[in-house]
Amino acid sequence: MRIAILGSTGSIGRQSLEVARAHPDKVKVIGLAARTNAALLEDQIAEFHPAAACLSNQPGWSSSVEGVETFHGAPGLVELATLHAVDLVVAATSGSEGFQPLIAAIRAGKKIALANKEALVMAGQLVVREAKAAGCLLRPVDSEHSAIWQCLQGERRQNVEGVTLTASGGPFRTWAAGELAEATPSQALKHPVWSMGSKITIDSATLMNKGLEVIEAHWLFDLPFSRIRVAIHPQSVIHSLVHFADGSLKAQLGTPDMRLPISYALSWPDRWHTEQPAVDLLQIQPLTFFEPDFERFPLLRLAMTAGELGHTYPTVLCAADEVAVSAFLRGEISWTRMHAVIEQTLDQHTQIVDPSLEEILAADAEARNVAQSLCRRYSRQAVL
Ligand code: MG
Repeated sequence: MRIAILGSTGSIGRQSLEVARAHPDKVKVIGLAARTNAALLEDQIAEFHPAAACLSNQPGWSSSVEGVETFHGAPGLVELATLHAVDLVVAATSGSEGFQPLIAAIRAGKKIALANKEALVMAGQLVVREAKAAGCLLRPVDSEHSAIWQCLQGERRQNVEGVTLTASGGPFRTWAAGELAEATPSQALKHPVWSMGSKITIDSATLMNKGLEVIEAHWLFDLPFSRIRVAIHPQSVIHSLVHFADGSLKAQLGTPDMRLPISYALSWPDRWHTEQPAVDLLQIQPLTFFEPDFERFPLLRLAMTAGELGHTYPTVLCAADEVAVSAFLRGEISWTRMHAVIEQTLDQHTQIVDPSLEEILAADAEARNVAQSLCRRYSRQAVL
């Protein structure tokens, strides 16, 4: 498998390279793209010798390693994702930056390992339509969706009743509402189970991530929202479940290690050997499950509502969330203000039915402006 990784210096990108390192006979790295981390990108280039590389936010950058073709800026990501020699693109840029290269890769007939859930949330209908037209199976990298995909192997679509997405519940699972209001970025960044990038770690703490994953599941598995449930499962051993017509439930279990779903997305329908230990049923803690608390974690409900409203609402949700999370991480707005910013950005939006790519990008840009001005207002209030 000859691969290009969009977002190679991020958490998923680095772990994708670990999978590639473990299987040099099966994976050849053709392209690497990062946003800002030039030093790590150079290290990766020196180790994996890709044919091409791109540092998207530095137009003047070129690799010091000889023989590597350099692509520049956002158009460079598209060039890298559509290189003739690439079979599969690992779409792992966080946020909405990876959207256009993803569409370009689908249109170019590449296999896609999809780790960028924002692309499906902001433009699910469009991505799915493009994938269908190109005969492209979107291989999920998100652990929950990988679990569902694994449970669906060999099953008939008409026998699927629904799915349950599990959620660890994040670092604030047991916090009272009053304590949550005072939550700081450093507390929110301490995820109890998964080691991930900062945006998704905050989203996991608010449960927004699970809301985004519900929308992602809706598009990936063509399921109505009424058939997608969420269960809090603090041990994160069961990664998700599928419910079948005969009352059977199938679950996928594994250690909470993103290299597993990454590896499956690359190896499917095969499975590659791994040195990592499997789940030992006799050693693990009892597995527990709870209803999510929508009162303490209102962003989960807000995300699910935006998903059901559809059209440009999920686009706006995604954009406002990115802005709000950045403002929270910079210490500009409080924990509870993230919900206010996202909810009010959604309130101010006038939906565009069945949006085109241009309309989606316009809705995204407008939502960012609205959310940014809301963040400024709330940060001033905090100072006063
Ligand atoms: Mg996930």
